[in-house]
Amino acid sequence: MFEKILIANRGEIALRIQRACREMGIKTVAVYSEADAEAKYVRLADESVCIGPPPSGRSYLHVPAIIAAAEVTDAEAIHPGYGFLSENADFAERVESSGFVFIGPRPDTIRLMGDKVSAKDAMKASGVPCVPGSEGALGEDPEEWIRLAKEVGYPIIIKAAGGGGGRGMRVVHTEAALIQAVQMTQAEAAAAFGNPMVYMEKFLGNPRHIEIQVLSDEHGNAIHLGERDCSMQRRHQKVMEEAPAPGLDPKLRNKIGERCAEACRKIGYRGAGTFEFLFEDGEFYFIEMNTRVQVEHPVTELITGVDIVQESIRIAAGLELSKKQKEIQFKGHALECRINAEDPRTFVPSPGRITLYHAPGGPGVRVDSHVYQNYYVPPHYDSMIGKLITYGTTREQAIARMRIALSEMIVEGIKTNIPLHQDLLVDQAVLEGGQSIHYLEKKLGLNKH
Ligand code: ADP
Repeated sequence: MFEKILIANRGEIALRIQRACREMGIKTVAVYSEADAEAKYVRLADESVCIGPPPSGRSYLHVPAIIAAAEVTDAEAIHPGYGFLSENADFAERVESSGFVFIGPRPDTIRLMGDKVSAKDAMKASGVPCVPGSEGALGEDPEEWIRLAKEVGYPIIIKAAGGGGGRGMRVVHTEAALIQAVQMTQAEAAAAFGNPMVYMEKFLGNPRHIEIQVLSDEHGNAIHLGERDCSMQRRHQKVMEEAPAPGLDPKLRNKIGERCAEACRKIGYRGAGTFEFLFEDGEFYFIEMNTRVQVEHPVTELITGVDIVQESIRIAAGLELSKKQKEIQFKGHALECRINAEDPRTFVPSPGRITLYHAPGGPGVRVDSHVYQNYYVPPHYDSMIGKLITYGTTREQAIARMRIALSEMIVEGIKTNIPLHQDLLVDQAVLEGGQSIHYLEKKLGLNKH
């Protein structure tokens, strides 16, 4: 096992990874920007290195500074967390060529999955169901686009191979709008992602977002940890997540989970990963794979008892997974609310000093957050200040505990989206569960009137 790991991230995930390391007896190195000098995870780390000024481009995304920090502290491995450099194949390559272990997949796997066209091809070849659409990227011939769209059936969606973060997509309802839509998406993709390739998919009208967590080691073992329902989204950003997905047949979960595990074995996947699917009328359609730990991983940890971060570290150290598929049992229900420093109605970020802070507690309550009273939420980064996660033997209990936890949680001095979560947890449709990815935006739209 490693003796020392450098954590190339900030905020709650830096603290989460640090906690996993401490439990495993591994020393940690925190890297931080000048804006995060006072942060809790920096204080709690065994060592810390300032890697630059506040803008992420000059700190958390600045590869030479991170590599240098690993060199001067004699760290053996680098955990990228999520966001920042976590899905950057060049960074992973640089880490490994500098003699450190990258805690995540091999660079070529990150590259394969980072291009949505090659990812989809690899998934199809591995037997993972995908959204019907073009075979690979669209060619040059507009006649061909028209023929293909007819075959797939309108509405369709044009997506950039290099797209991400909900950008580089355009829905097309009629043949008249097709050619221009393809050309515009190509031009935008070239400008935004440096890759003009686009592909075509059937546009699913009312799907849910259901994703499968996997763990895969270098000894040919791959398991799935079931699914998470992340359909509560606004502008493609997840707001609230849960596991298991309400109403999903366990047989269907095992079937799709096994397909994902098999795909991991086929492509020689290394580490923790997530297969994202749209789910409609009882069918799963692969949309993309995230080759890193996800924000919402705790809900899976609570219902399986598996520590996903610790497993990812074990895998990187070359060890075998600590559990076999048949040892994985799904028990109870877990819910996660992302707590953001933002206005609960306008969603405008609300950075600043937290003047009063009380974290909730009690049975089945987990708070993953790096903030504390008098913490200054810097304006330079993501607005998420933590995650509130509750567990119950039933979904009802997890919801009841979340309501209590939200009511106990006090954050003053900045605005947070706690009131939005409180609204959601008394909403009849949310209580029923199983809403589509459009539910939250529709509800917010209605609330305006
Ligand atoms: P990104 O990497 O930008 O997040 P995804 O491929 O994961 O892109 O898609 C983001 C979101 O776009 C999905 O969660 C879904 O809301 C919508 N979307 C993507 N593909 C389709 C599709 N074929 N039909 C309907 N909605 C889609």
